[in-house]
Amino acid sequence: MAQEDLFKKLVAHCKEYGFVFQSSEIYDGLAAVYDYGQYGVELKNNIKKYWWDSLVLLHENVVGLDSAIFMHPTIWKASGHVDAFNDPLIDNKDSKKRYRADVLIEEQMAKYEGKINKEVEKARKRFGDTFDEDQFRATNPRVLANQEKLDALHGRFVKALNDSDLDELRQIIVDQEIACPVSGSRNWTNVRQFNLMFSTDMGSTSESSNKIYLRPETAQGIFVNYLNVQKSGRMKIPFGIAQIGKAFRNEIVARQFIFRMREFEQMEMQFFVPPGTELEWFEHWKQHRMKWHRTLGFGDDMYRFHDHDKLAHYANAATDIEFKFPFGFKEVEGIHSRTDFDLESHQEYSGKKLQYFDPETNKNYVPYVVETSIGVDRMFLQIISAAYTEETLKKEDGSTDSRVVMKLPSALAPVKLAVFPLTKKDGLPEKARTILNEMKFEFNCQYEEKDSIGKRYRRQDAIGTPYCITVDHQTLEDDTVTIRYRDTMEQERVNITSLLQIIKEKVNMSNLLRQL
Ligand code: ATP
Repeated sequence: MAQEDLFKKLVAHCKEYGFVFQSSEIYDGLAAVYDYGQYGVELKNNIKKYWWDSLVLLHENVVGLDSAIFMHPTIWKASGHVDAFNDPLIDNKDSKKRYRADVLIEEQMAKYEGKINKEVEKARKRFGDTFDEDQFRATNPRVLANQEKLDALHGRFVKALNDSDLDELRQIIVDQEIACPVSGSRNWTNVRQFNLMFSTDMGSTSESSNKIYLRPETAQGIFVNYLNVQKSGRMKIPFGIAQIGKAFRNEIVARQFIFRMREFEQMEMQFFVPPGTELEWFEHWKQHRMKWHRTLGFGDDMYRFHDHDKLAHYANAATDIEFKFPFGFKEVEGIHSRTDFDLESHQEYSGKKLQYFDPETNKNYVPYVVETSIGVDRMFLQIISAAYTEETLKKEDGSTDSRVVMKLPSALAPVKLAVFPLTKKDGLPEKARTILNEMKFEFNCQYEEKDSIGKRYRRQDAIGTPYCITVDHQTLEDDTVTIRYRDTMEQERVNITSLLQIIKEKVNMSNLLRQL
């Protein structure tokens, strides 16, 4: 299936099965804002738990925080966001559509990369087992020509970004003959900087009101609290503070569903380290975070690191973990070595000392910080796009059937267990409810008695329920039920008394955590 079609189907599936809805839909929606439905919120909560537990439960020196969205406005001056949290925007004069200039150029680079990969794949098919990819890439004229164009463009782009040269960004778009996807024209405006922060007023009268910002990242709440946490928790460096919370960005282009939203949620951890050790810790957290992703079992080749072309004003090393979405490899998480930029700056703007006293060396210093920052919503999109599967099934009579199944890791599935009475009579519903009432204290369960068992299985497959059990007449005689496994569709007869143990073992979050 074409990846674009897959993505459309995924978006439709999310709506049909109560994962994600457009915000304010009855008023024709609000651009780039989404609501999570009954299954979406469960999946989201499970993702957050997986992240939180992997840091706060598994690391003695990582603790949590929940800071407010509203903060003193000077914080955003100190952090550099008032002056530098900008994206370069460009408008197409014919379609009146707005784009991020850097994204247009990045997409152009991805096109060259796509051409190269196509040649490689064609050759791989042609040569079979004898194919030597490195040699092919180093010698094939078409690959070399595209690689040369890509390298030249990349070099020019990085320089323009680092010089904040907006005219050059526009010139690259013109020289590369990049056209507006809507109008098809190359009639572009100049490139301008656009600040992404939302602001509002706090205070009841206009004289006393104060312009404040909706936080564009959760990290600053951690920085301004780091000494509170360190002192009250008697934390010793190195230590980390983890936080999950909403962030807001007035994104210029909000496309691709929940990939880029104006209101979204972040899971961020700031890890405070002695100056000079930050690059070691950066490497440590890079590997740890990649493992966290790969443990979900969607395939190691679905992820890659992508080092930043332009370092943010606060960083001395930065990389992204990218996931292969249906629309290509894109960032899901950033790992940044933020130096002492933020703490030094808050020290300066607030006039308060933010130094840590190291009891071992008897010295005061401002710690350096390594950050891991991931969007909950992007992680959600990663998981559902990897889990969404369409299958053709062969029936016993030779005919075919199909199903859509969300192959979610069991620990993350919104509903863990569905309980079905075979029929609505003969005491089967009562028996099924007795089982459900026992299980519901342990995990999210559902009861369904409407429609055939086959239809009920399909509905549970569509929301990713890993286990369904059916209560039939034999259950009344010997206390056994059939358990049906989502991915293999195999069924097994088990005793009710062993049910809780079987399922608990399989859906437990610790199964994932133990692999980290
Ligand atoms: P991008 O380059 O895609 O705009 P970014 O580099 O600005 O992202 P960071 O500031 O590093 O992103 O934010 C950390 C994480 O927060 C990202 O990896 C992403 O998962 C998430 N995130 C950032 N912006 C958005 C958004 N508008 N919608 C959803 N998630 C987002």
